[in-house]
Amino acid sequence: MEMFVEYTACHDCDLIARIPSLKAGEKAYCPRCRHLLAASVKNGLEQALALAFTALFCMVLANLFPFIAFASKGREQVMTLIQSVVSLYRHNNEILALLVLAFIILIPTAIIIALITILYPLLTQRRKIPYARRLGRMIFTLQSWCMPEVFLIGVLASLIKVASMATVVLGLSFWAYVGFSIAFTVMFARLNRHQFWNTLAPLQDPDPGAATTAKAAHLASCHICGHLTHAEKRRCKRCHRCQPMY
Ligand SMILES: [Zn+2]
Ligand SMILES: [Zn+2]
Repeated sequence: MEMFVEYTACHDCDLIARIPSLKAGEKAYCPRCRHLLAASVKNGLEQALALAFTALFCMVLANLFPFIAFASKGREQVMTLIQSVVSLYRHNNEILALLVLAFIILIPTAIIIALITILYPLLTQRRKIPYARRLGRMIFTLQSWCMPEVFLIGVLASLIKVASMATVVLGLSFWAYVGFSIAFTVMFARLNRHQFWNTLAPLQDPDPGAATTAKAAHLASCHICGHLTHAEKRRCKRCHRCQPMY
């Protein structure tokens, strides 16, 4: 296997540091400001793949059964997860309905499927798939747009008010979504960005020479994959992300 000398620019102080080859469980910190530069989680990618399958299973369950049921004065209403979105839409909250649909169901599901599509063939058959870098870039770009735990907190907060007016029963899908939220959050905790990109697409970083900072070396660090690229190119050679880079 070809060995690469890996450099990175500290995202906090811009110092260029050479990343040593890390054993499982080891971390590399910036020698100047102690910012975490890279980490190697023991079986991190395997754990992330298992958690992605778990999250996908929970998401399917969360859409099959009743999410919540209300009973008041002899009337009962049962609502599924997707019906909560439809209900928002019908009550003239179209934009909110679309945002909930995107951030709570569609984007998290797309991330999970993309991660499984990359990691399963990579870890089981040791082969790479077409568009893997593009999918990897999508995963880390959309990561901050997923808010399953915020949605659950919002549901629980609104239930405190509703509980005084009606009997509320949390359905199987609610607990499935709780399971999904936990698996999804832990999945990203185990998915180390440095480890993911170095397994998916190892690439030699440009030599910074005698320069101590990325700015002095006219280099920029990719926000998505961490690869150093000549600043004037403005496009990452590894994940093909365009501006902005720093
Ligand atoms: Zn630093
Ligand atoms: Zn990149």
